[in-house]
Amino acid sequence: MESSVRFQKKMIECSLLEKDRGKPFRPGDRLEWIPEWDRDKCIRCGLCYVYCPDGAVYRMDDGFFEVDKDRCKGCGICHRECWFGAISMAEEE
Ligand code: SF4
Ligand code: SF4
Repeated sequence: MESSVRFQKKMIECSLLEKDRGKPFRPGDRLEWIPEWDRDKCIRCGLCYVYCPDGAVYRMDDGFFEVDKDRCKGCGICHRECWFGAISMAEEE
């Protein structure tokens, strides 16, 4: 099964909520998911930057975007909001 499909299935199962239930979920307390950008699909609109709830998306000098792994929690909002499908969620090693 493709990685982003597995990610969406996990979210439907509410694993993000269940794993840390009752505990604060801080930026960087990531599950096993991390966003990856596909530059060939990205039009540098900045929506992923706007929608990230933890300020974990940053803009690089060339106008493309990347993730700050120390802040990202793996929620996948950037992946969901990217209207060009330029962000996929990858399972971390
Ligand atoms: S939302 Fe998608 S197309 Fe827009 S800057 Fe982010 S990755 Fe690129
Ligand atoms: S998965 Fe995307 S939206 Fe969620 S915290 Fe990480 S960079 Fe931000």
